[in-house]
Amino acid sequence: MIIVLKREATQGEIDHIVKKVEQLGLRSMISRGVERTIIGVIGDEAIVRSQPLEVYPGVERVIPVLAPYKLASREYKKEDSVIPLSPTVSIGGRKIIMFAGPCSVESKELLMSVGRTVKEAGAEVLRGGAFKPRSSPYDFQGLGEEGLRYLREVADETGLLVVTELMDPRDTELVERYADVIQIGARNIQNFNLLKEVGNSKKPVFLKRGMMATVREFLLSAEYIISHGNPNVILCERGIRTFETATRFTLDLNAVPLIKRLSHLPVVVDPSHGTGKYNLVGPMAKAAVACGADGLMIEVHPNPEEAFSDGEQSLLPRKFKELMSELAPIAASVGRTI
Ligand code: PEP
Ligand code: MN
Repeated sequence: MIIVLKREATQGEIDHIVKKVEQLGLRSMISRGVERTIIGVIGDEAIVRSQPLEVYPGVERVIPVLAPYKLASREYKKEDSVIPLSPTVSIGGRKIIMFAGPCSVESKELLMSVGRTVKEAGAEVLRGGAFKPRSSPYDFQGLGEEGLRYLREVADETGLLVVTELMDPRDTELVERYADVIQIGARNIQNFNLLKEVGNSKKPVFLKRGMMATVREFLLSAEYIISHGNPNVILCERGIRTFETATRFTLDLNAVPLIKRLSHLPVVVDPSHGTGKYNLVGPMAKAAVACGADGLMIEVHPNPEEAFSDGEQSLLPRKFKELMSELAPIAASVGRTI
């Protein structure tokens, strides 16, 4: 349920409503928008339905939320959420934000060379896995804390931010210490304890859509994080499993404009994992910008043949640079910058 307040609602009136909601055993979340303040009521709606909340001073309207997610919904927040990643970089506004780097952190030297190129080309955030979710236990599992350290050092030296995956709630503090943005991987989208854990974090969360997750399930996972207190969730479409086997996954670009209607959260597209093929990354990155993505996540490796993971979908650094200049006019044509 959403309580829309009158423009002139006072703090005292807001406190009074919040108190009432809490007395009913429910939680409230306040969103102060440009035009209005809105109170989201979290919990069993049946309890509040019998309460005449409309008559409370300061209340303009009470809207039952039909979508199963509330805080992530457009009904809850009309304006796009602009999420700060640092004091100078935010996502969800006019500028399209680029997250780029190798699939896995392999060595400091390699990360430094990729970091320099992607920064020069216009990327804002360095990506790289230090904890890798691999299908086979015999595949490279990541460098762990050493990888996190390299990410931080390279990012600080090049002026980038860091996004990296958190797989285990026990590593939360460790990852928070090194990363600016915490990534939750596709395979963990319904690891609800992990979602609750990052819901308590102060860092923004980069939530990747599960390969088997519907849009509804994707938004419900975001709702887990927001309802635990962290409103800074960035959604990432990274391809889903379909009957098609010619590509690694099927990049669901429908999801971009669809989610932007259903939710106020920023949407990033990852055409690297979404296609699994380096020569499809560019075309799908362009399509993603054209259909309204707020950012792109792209894997870049100087020697894909030798990459520890996902070489087949990684762009050479010079190809990433070329792609950046090709994306600029497409971004401009949809009223964005890159
Ligand atoms: C990644 O981005 O490093 C990754 C493992 O992607 P996904 O979780 O989408 O498979
Ligand atoms: Mn990868």
